[in-house]
Amino acid sequence: MATTDDSFNGMTEHCEECELETLHEVSVQIRTESIKQENAQFSREPYRVSECQRCGNRSSQRMNNA
Ligand SMILES: [Zn+2]
Repeated sequence: MATTDDSFNGMTEHCEECELETLHEVSVQIRTESIKQENAQFSREPYRVSECQRCGNRSSQRMNNA
């Protein structure tokens, strides 16, 4: 793998909107989700967010599909 200092995390992925392989900006977001009100507990779930650089379509996917 080539080393890069580029902070732009570009990935070529299939876009459902474009129906093409397009460049996507990929990032990881931690989202806090409340599970149930009664136990007042929050789970912090990492989501992988990719945004199509062609049409701007965003898709997010929970990373730990346990
Ligand atoms: Zn697209």
